[in-house]
Amino acid sequence: TETSPALDQRHVPADLPSRIQHYIDGEFVDSVDGDTFDVLEPVSNEVYVHAAAGKKADIDLAVAAATRAFKDGPWRRMLPRERSRILHRIADLVELRDARLAELESFDSGLPITQALGQARRAAENFRFFADLIVAQADDTFKVPGRQINYVNRKPIGVAGLITPWNTPFMLESWKLGPALASGNTVVLKPAEFTPLSASLWAGIFEEAGLPKGVFNLVNGLGEEAGDALVKHPDVPLISFTGESRTGQIIFGNAAPFLKGLSMELGGKSPAVVFADADLEAAVDATIFGVFSLNGERCTAGSRILVQRDVYDEFVERYAAQAKRVKVGYPHDPATEVGALVHPEHFDKVMGYVEIGKSEGRLVAGGGRPEGFEFGNFVAPTVFADVPPDARIFQEEIFGPVVAITPFDTDAEALALANDTKYGLAAYIWTNDLKRAHNFSQAVEAGMVWLNSNNVRDLRTPFGGVKASGLGHEGGYRSIDFYTDQQAVHITL
Ligand code: NAD
Repeated sequence: TETSPALDQRHVPADLPSRIQHYIDGEFVDSVDGDTFDVLEPVSNEVYVHAAAGKKADIDLAVAAATRAFKDGPWRRMLPRERSRILHRIADLVELRDARLAELESFDSGLPITQALGQARRAAENFRFFADLIVAQADDTFKVPGRQINYVNRKPIGVAGLITPWNTPFMLESWKLGPALASGNTVVLKPAEFTPLSASLWAGIFEEAGLPKGVFNLVNGLGEEAGDALVKHPDVPLISFTGESRTGQIIFGNAAPFLKGLSMELGGKSPAVVFADADLEAAVDATIFGVFSLNGERCTAGSRILVQRDVYDEFVERYAAQAKRVKVGYPHDPATEVGALVHPEHFDKVMGYVEIGKSEGRLVAGGGRPEGFEFGNFVAPTVFADVPPDARIFQEEIFGPVVAITPFDTDAEALALANDTKYGLAAYIWTNDLKRAHNFSQAVEAGMVWLNSNNVRDLRTPFGGVKASGLGHEGGYRSIDFYTDQQAVHITL
């Protein structure tokens, strides 16, 4: 292993766990077969801990515990107000521990510490939001005068299988755990194998908040083993998945024989469209943030920037200059804006695209490792200009700090370019022309549009993609709808 002095500058949190276990029926346990997998830390790529590698036998135990807790336990019978109080306590505990959560998440994933802290707070907010929503939730009644009353009897569905990716792991887990638990289900969470550290904190937080035993179960392990067994378990009627589109396709196929309820939040290659009449400074700032925050490992990253020809050269010049000023550094350093990518495999994938990009576009910033970081998974913010739409770096999700810039002339051309990928998660539009802004927004094939604004949203709005970016929207009552069954009861008068 490397012994570069630079490595000594990295931060290793105190009191790291000596191993990462599953949490089943209120107990921390190892895998039935005793198997483990290595977990690496992205600054040194050294193994810092071993995690229990769950298989079918472990998933079976977790699903059995969750099924018992659902059928016989108090959780689904509690008043929404009572469940809500526990969810608020969970939010309080996450807030109380936000600094520690951020420290561990940043260490495990390579995310800049300030951004990891923001994500920890957002996880608390997710719990608070669904705690409030479930109390405010009301169901429909329909009256046919003199003949019938029809009402909706909303019920939790059972054991929800939650499968999550490694980018902002703790926050994305909370986005599923919050509504699944709020609506009275029990859960089995299978977190991403690259980043199991923060997920191991949920058990303690839930116990302290008073969540009944067996309601939350956690099985670590590889997607093809633990994840696969969860998807194929007959007693898990719901799978909420966030990850790559390719994995989503596999899960769709595997869940099909069981006719499971599926929520799919998948990949993206979202366009940011900058018209000549836009506030160029704001557009440059936002599009820099849009692709380089969270190390570019962000599903809604604006990773293709389409710029109108009149301002193209100026935009590219300003953008490249600003990309070069983005501070790459150790994840624990509060000044860092781009940290280390999550894992050497992912680093190789991103670097592969950087090399491909050199023959597809014009490199104007970055293009390799940042100076002084000859170790770990560091990539300099990389900008390619003049990228044609048939380029791989225009079409494929890179999921790193790499962006493609492409010129356009007319609105129609911009729209065609924006829609010219298999994905449809987000779109960002920069223009001061009101009509154009709305016409373009409504025509673009994207689940979410940000007009002259950054990636910030109210949690009541629909979240999700179209085309290969997903199926079903979460957010607000849509999440409650996914995790509940709306039984219709009809009474003849
Ligand atoms: P991934 O698809 O490789 O893995 C996601 C999860 O699925 C992991 O827990 C993994 O172990 C599991 N898995 C893998 N194969 C499986 C199988 N055959 N059966 C069951 N489970 C399996 O994704 P990733 O690399 O961890 O995450 C990055 C991807 O996630 C990107 O494509 C990104 O755009 C996407 N993402 C989407 C959103 C969104 O809301 N749309 C949010 C974040 C990330």
